[in-house]
Amino acid sequence: SILEAAERERTFIAIKPDGVQRGLISEIIHRFERKGYKLVAIKLVIPTKEFAEKHYHDLKGRPFFNGLRDFLSSGPVVAMVWEGQGVIKYGRKLIGATSPHNSEPGTIRGDLAVSVGRNTIHGSDGPETANAEIALWFKPEELVSYTSNAEKWLY
Ligand code: ADP
Ligand code: MG
Repeated sequence: SILEAAERERTFIAIKPDGVQRGLISEIIHRFERKGYKLVAIKLVIPTKEFAEKHYHDLKGRPFFNGLRDFLSSGPVVAMVWEGQGVIKYGRKLIGATSPHNSEPGTIRGDLAVSVGRNTIHGSDGPETANAEIALWFKPEELVSYTSNAEKWLY
């Protein structure tokens, strides 16, 4: 069947180098997958410093910017696009508050991280940033359109 536009909402999610180094890739993917969201793109990349600056361009000038840029480009990042109804906002809910000091238990950062500079995961904060980040990290042909068997039970 043809999916409604709302069911094709997409967000950019990245497992940061600390998450990859700590062996949390499958744990994080598991949480998005079992919620009912659909993985439509995934790759492992070591971003350059220049690329990391582009990704975090809105934070340029903040005291932690250089450290953040250097950290993001310090090792492999799992870049992903997840799709589903409400995935942008609810993805942020699964992730939890920016500082793991404040993120609730049950969230990814609440359960898996302790410091704001090593908070394991990134998620787009709105529709415009989602589109921009997906376009920055992925070529259009890297996004895979398919109907998963689960969808007829979800929607
Ligand atoms: P979020 O990742 O929750 O969207 P922001 O967009 O505000 O948060 O910040 C981007 C990233 O910058 C955060 O995930 C975190 O890793 C880092 N960061 C934010 N604030 C600080 C801070 N005060 N000190 C160090 N790193 C920070
Ligand atoms: Mg942000």
